[in-house]
Amino acid sequence: MAIYKVAIVGAGPAGYFAAQALNNLADQDRSFEIDMFERLPTPWGLVRSGVAPDHPKIKTVSKVFEKIATGENFRLFANVEIGKDLSVDQLQDRYDAVIIATGSSLGKTLGIAGEKLRGSLSAASFVPWYNAHPDFADVDVPLDSNAAVVIGGGNVAMDVARILALEPSELDPTDTADHAIIAFKNSDIRKVYIALRRGPEHAAFTSPELRDLPKLEHTNVIINEAEIVAAIARVGDSAEKDVKSNLDAMLFIAQNQKTEHERTIEFLFSHTPQEIQGDGKVEGVVFSTPTGERTIKCGLVVTAIGYNALDIPGVPFGNGKVVNVDGRVTGNMYVVGWAKRGPSGVIGTNKSDASSVIELIGQDLGEPKNKSDITDLLKGKTVVTQRDWEAINAAEIAAGEPLSKPRRKGITWDQLMAHAEIYYF
Ligand code: NAP
Repeated sequence: MAIYKVAIVGAGPAGYFAAQALNNLADQDRSFEIDMFERLPTPWGLVRSGVAPDHPKIKTVSKVFEKIATGENFRLFANVEIGKDLSVDQLQDRYDAVIIATGSSLGKTLGIAGEKLRGSLSAASFVPWYNAHPDFADVDVPLDSNAAVVIGGGNVAMDVARILALEPSELDPTDTADHAIIAFKNSDIRKVYIALRRGPEHAAFTSPELRDLPKLEHTNVIINEAEIVAAIARVGDSAEKDVKSNLDAMLFIAQNQKTEHERTIEFLFSHTPQEIQGDGKVEGVVFSTPTGERTIKCGLVVTAIGYNALDIPGVPFGNGKVVNVDGRVTGNMYVVGWAKRGPSGVIGTNKSDASSVIELIGQDLGEPKNKSDITDLLKGKTVVTQRDWEAINAAEIAAGEPLSKPRRKGITWDQLMAHAEIYYF
């Protein structure tokens, strides 16, 4: 029986699905010992720090991750940064295969004037702030104006707009960061614009997310019916199924508008951002539109226009991704998930993506290397293992219980690390 050692860098969905695919590849002739490395003290990636807290069902995939993680062939090395605590070279030397699964965490920018003003944020900061990512606890989110503008027409823009426009007590039974719930309860924002640069037929939202909007109990959702009717006429009968279903969902919203609530989300189509205006702080966004320039007054702008991958020393990057051919990078290095293909698809997309890359690894593997264990390179390093993570997880769930929350997340690195019995290798 050949036993191969595989390192997975990044404990998000792509990493866990890669581990699952390796387990599926094991047979009577070969098996895999999997070490997963994670920079944060906590695993689960975007399932913990990206998925909107009012969408708890999406997070149930973490049960799949924990089943993989409790396998005898699996070890978690969290609080270990590749490129700092260990080099990629060291991994490539000690493992038969190294799989990069670090996602895309850098928000793309518009490159327009005013983008650096106070009150102008990327969703790449705002989302982890409300989701209690320990690197984002101190993000400055000014909520002291009446209006906010969200730029982008994808599901991240939709999440951001919805979270800003919800009645904040709806977040009480969720795992939203404590500091964010307090800030939203004190927020003056009552109107949230979601601005797309193209027409409704080009929106990147998915229809289940659109169909959720009319279910908001305390928020009006405004879409101009004439714009949707015109878009339906433009695409005609040949529209792709997804586009048709999006337009149907938008038409339903447009025809069933509520106006009685204090809070409103309004969709703006064909609005291309030109400039963010303000004196030391955001005061408005100037858009070009088919009928001329238009300025929307607001005190907060959140840009949700996609992501780039963050560089890791020793890994080739280009065009916001790890340079790869079908997931093969260089030598025994591979890549899966958003770091491979860019920030697209839902969590489940990473399952088929990882399976196809693991199939290639299966073809490429020669004899196992039988190199020494990685732990001698981690001597003196504080490592959060699976057992430690389980302690953090249990503590968070217990803290949430009296408040009827699924968990109450630790907010800072110190709070998270304090829950764990840390290993010093
Ligand atoms: P996305 O779906 O690619 O949407 C990006 C949006 O940004 C597009 O509407 C794009 O418009 C717009 N954009 C890009 N550059 C722009 C610019 N310079 N000015 C104005 N607008 C610009 O990306 P995402 O929303 O970040 O989502 C990433 C992935 O995660 C997607 O696959 C999404 O479905 C998934 N996701 C899923 C869920 C869920 O299932 N509930 C939740 C969140 C995210 P153009 O089309 O005009 O370029």
